[in-house]
Amino acid sequence: MAQQDTEHEHAGVLPVDDEGFVLDTEDNAAREEAAVARGTARPITVVGNPVLHKECKDVTEFGDELAQLVDDMFASQRAAEGVGLAANQIGVDLKVFVYDCPDDDGARHTGVVCNPVLQELPADRRRLDDGNEGCLSVPTAYAELARPDYAVVTGQDEKGNPIKVRGTGFFARCLQHETDHLYGYLYIDRLSKRERKDALKQMAEGTPRYEVVPND
Ligand SMILES: [Zn+2]
Repeated sequence: MAQQDTEHEHAGVLPVDDEGFVLDTEDNAAREEAAVARGTARPITVVGNPVLHKECKDVTEFGDELAQLVDDMFASQRAAEGVGLAANQIGVDLKVFVYDCPDDDGARHTGVVCNPVLQELPADRRRLDDGNEGCLSVPTAYAELARPDYAVVTGQDEKGNPIKVRGTGFFARCLQHETDHLYGYLYIDRLSKRERKDALKQMAEGTPRYEVVPND
């Protein structure tokens, strides 16, 4: 892994608005590009790998090691053409996810959340959206999964500052999907038995377009 200079803008530290929500829609291309350049893409763990099926450890150290992990996650996300990636998807047992994901208004959101907690929605904001969902850790499979079309996640940024992230539509789905990962759940765990079996069959029949970690 190449050693990088230490004076750089971190993708994981963003300004917040007066409600405490991160401003994650600005300078996306530059921030993502810089993180990818500093990072090293790693192979993706797939369903069956134990690291994906248990709750990850809380992040407690917000230093250079975490910054490098975040950069590697952005590089891995890019290599696999993902819109979100949790640390356990590159085999790291820590509660961190990165995202680079459009919402339903076409706005691109790019950022990092450590120790995410999905907030309960008020009843009037709970509207289910029937979208298609896929996961880099279940390569080549897709399934319909109803999820709320609005999500708020609280957590910390790469430096440990408290943050809130909110999303609509596809980005709301991403926030829920990535938070699930860090608690040991894949989206296929939310499907019916039959749909789950179908997703695993799609995976068995397909060939991932990126490097994966073989299961024993
Ligand atoms: Zn996933």
